[in-house]
Amino acid sequence: MHLGKDSPIVVTKTQYTAEEFIQKKIELLKDDAEPFFAVDLEDICNKHIKWITLMPRVTPHYAVKCNDDINIIKLLAFLGAGFDCASKGEIKKIIDLGISADRIVYANPCKQSSYIRYAKEVGVETMTFDNEQELMKIKDIYPNAKLVLRIVTDDSNAVCRFSMKFGADINTARKLLEKARQNDLDIVGVSFHCGSGQMTSKAFVDAIQNARTIMNYGMKLGFTMNLLDIGGGFPGNTGTENHFSDIATAVNQALEEHFPNDGSVRVIAEPGRYYVASAYTLATSVIALRDMVDTETGAMKYMYYINDGVYGSFNCVLYDHYVPEPKFLADNQSNEKFTSSIWGPTCDGLDCIHTSIKMPKLNIGDWILWKNMGAYTISAAVEFNGLPFGKPLYFMSKHFWDSVKDAFLPKLKKYQYETQLVRFNINECSNEVEDDMIPWLLEDSAEDSAVLTIQ
Ligand SMILES: *Cc1c(COP(=O)(O)O)cnc(C)c1O
Repeated sequence: MHLGKDSPIVVTKTQYTAEEFIQKKIELLKDDAEPFFAVDLEDICNKHIKWITLMPRVTPHYAVKCNDDINIIKLLAFLGAGFDCASKGEIKKIIDLGISADRIVYANPCKQSSYIRYAKEVGVETMTFDNEQELMKIKDIYPNAKLVLRIVTDDSNAVCRFSMKFGADINTARKLLEKARQNDLDIVGVSFHCGSGQMTSKAFVDAIQNARTIMNYGMKLGFTMNLLDIGGGFPGNTGTENHFSDIATAVNQALEEHFPNDGSVRVIAEPGRYYVASAYTLATSVIALRDMVDTETGAMKYMYYINDGVYGSFNCVLYDHYVPEPKFLADNQSNEKFTSSIWGPTCDGLDCIHTSIKMPKLNIGDWILWKNMGAYTISAAVEFNGLPFGKPLYFMSKHFWDSVKDAFLPKLKKYQYETQLVRFNINECSNEVEDDMIPWLLEDSAEDSAVLTIQ
């Protein structure tokens, strides 16, 4: 599988940081360049390696809504992750890449009927629900579906809360299990989501315990109950590594206590931001600026207009409660700082990234970098006012990719030479990789004229 010319992978001979990579790229650019992302694919691989090392019992199913970049999906498929899809469009995206349906969990508790029909058609069996109407809808359309009951969590410590919208409480969950039993439906497990940007590990521990209670009740009613889905909410920004390991430790302990590893329950999760947040660094340039004198202090103030804004990559400011901090390239740095504001390029007054920030004086054409911009950014961006948002430019060192291939290809071979049936065995999905899922042939990309190769 080879990437198109519009999404080149830059293969570097040595390892680069995102800043170094952006510097190199900027040196090659002419004036007036569009915004772009430096996407560090090593960072994504490292996240995966860290996940399977710290939580070996929990198979990650990447939440596609967080960033549905096809190259990221291909890379994660190659590494062995599954996927969490919330719509027909997301399911189709995964299926069209040749990834098998049993690696997908349809994790939206409220689904359009035609989407349930589509899931059935393509063989996506596992889906969540949290209310009786949904249960009966699924009974009509897809009575053999493997149902996962989503329960509420205490998400008061999360940045983006979901529990006011989704999740059954304990009493409702019991009633739903009884209803499903009467209707001969197949409930296979319990799921939850502790809220996106969850700040405590206790939320996970409590939710795992509640899941155990509900699963016990389900087993009493005669259900097999062999799936626990601990959802998303794991942090992914640079600097949150310790927070992630704390959650992993707490999750492992809670699993040990409530779900001892006897092979009877498969544990999955639906991380989104964890995988992609820190891999994306956005580079924007100052396209216009306005200076003013502060009437009270007499000091100079500046308004900067940059070429990406809240309708584009910075929609995270509005939707994800995330205001990234600007980072300036070394040659722009001066010691003096001025009160400034930073605005997006559209004609809308809402299009503001920072209303008041102390920063060095910049000039038109100067670049500003924004780190941790991979989660809930481009997936919701639009070209309002005809203005493009950052386009991804991927990079990875050849040496690193060779070692990742050495580590993960044996699994690929094992899959190929064993039995085709493995493909439809849901228990294997963490190890399953398909030949054409190797995301790209990096060696070849140097021959592609659209690809820049840094020596
Ligand atoms: C959004 C979402 C996720 C991903 O959440 P993150 O906080 O990005 O990890 C996972 N599962 C479901 C059901 C979601 O809606």
